[in-house]
Amino acid sequence: MYDIIIIGGGPAGITAGIYGKRANKKVLVLEANKVGGNILKAHMVDNYPAVPHSTGEKLGELFLKQALDLGVEIKYERAMELIDNNDTKIIQTLDNMYETKTVIIATGNDRKGIALPNEKELVGRGVSYCVHCDGGFFKKKDVAIIGGGDSSIDNTLYLADICNKVYFIYNGKLDVSKLDKPNIEVIANSNVKEIIGDKVLESIIIDKDNREIKVSGLFVDKANVPETSLLLRNIKQTDTGFIISDESVKTNIDGVFVAGDVRTKSLRQVATAVSDGAIAATAAIKYINEKN
Ligand SMILES: Cc1cc2nc3c(=O)[nH]c(=O)nc-3n(C[C@H](O)[C@H](O)[C@H](O)COP(=O)(O)OP(=O)(O)OC[C@H]3O[C@@H](n4cnc5c(N)ncnc54)[C@H](O)[C@@H]3O)c2cc1C
Repeated sequence: MYDIIIIGGGPAGITAGIYGKRANKKVLVLEANKVGGNILKAHMVDNYPAVPHSTGEKLGELFLKQALDLGVEIKYERAMELIDNNDTKIIQTLDNMYETKTVIIATGNDRKGIALPNEKELVGRGVSYCVHCDGGFFKKKDVAIIGGGDSSIDNTLYLADICNKVYFIYNGKLDVSKLDKPNIEVIANSNVKEIIGDKVLESIIIDKDNREIKVSGLFVDKANVPETSLLLRNIKQTDTGFIISDESVKTNIDGVFVAGDVRTKSLRQVATAVSDGAIAATAAIKYINEKN
C-alpha cells in the first residue's frame, strides 16, 4: 500500500513526488510517457527561476535527476482508472493495480493547434501556443494571435505591452472592446490559412481578402484540452474537462488532490505547476497523518 500515488510526471507530479518522499512517505509516480511532461516541448524556457535560457528538454532532465537522486519511485505506466474505496484508493494501469491512501492527479493538458502545414515545423521558431511562455521573446516585434475565448483578450493586451504591433485574429462572437489600443489591430471573422517561413516564421495569410501579414510571432491561443479520460469518472470537472479545485488543491473526493495544468486555474506555467505539486503533497501528508 502506497501513501501517495501521483498520476503524471510533469513539473507538478515530480514536485509532489519530491515533497512526499522527503516527508518519508511511500510515494509512487506513474508516468505514461516521459518525465517532464509538456515542458519537454518548449524550445526555450526563460521564465523559470535558477535555470535561465534552458531548453525544455534540459529542464525535464533536471526534474527527473532530482527525483531519482532523492529515491522517488517512478513507473512508466498509464493510469487508466481510479477507484475510490474510501480509505483505500485503487489505481488501475494497463498491467497492474496499485493501492494507495491518497492520490494526486497531475496529468496536465495539451494545447490545441490549428493543423496547418508548417505549423509544427515552426514551433519555437515563431509559432507558439503560450503567450506567457514566449511573449517575452518578441520584444518590439510584430506578432499575431489567434484567439479562442475571453482569456485571449487578456493575452492580447499582455502582448501589446511587449510587442510593436499585435494582430488579433478571431472568428465567432467575442467582446473585443478592451482591445482599443493603438498597436492592436483586430481582425474579425477570419482564420489563418497559411503559415509562411522556411527556418523561421516570416508571415501568415488570412482568409479575409487573402491578406498576407508579416509577423515574427504567431500565438495560437485556442482552448486547452486536459488529459482526463476514464480516470476521472467521479471527479468534478468543468465542461471542458478541467478538474474543479482552488488553491487548496482538494477535489470533491476525500484523499484525492489535483495539481498543475489539469486543474481550474488562471495561469498554466511550470512555476504554478510546481507550486501546486508542493501544496498537493503537503495536503496529502496532512490527510494521511490525521487519519493515522
Ligand atoms: C510548447 C510549450 C512551451 C511551453 N513553454 C513554457 C515556458 O517557457 N515556461 C513555462 O513556465 N511553461 C511553459 N509551458 C507550459 C508548461 O509546460 C506547463 O504549464 C507545465 O508543464 C504543466 O505541468 P503539469 O505537471 O501540470 O503537466 P504536464 O507537464 O502536462 O505533465 C503531465 C504529465 O502527465 C502524464 N500523464 C497524463 N495522463 C496520464 C495518465 N493517465 N497516467 C500517467 N501519466 C499521465 C503526461 O504524460 C505528462 O508527462 C509550455 C508548454 C508548451 C506545450
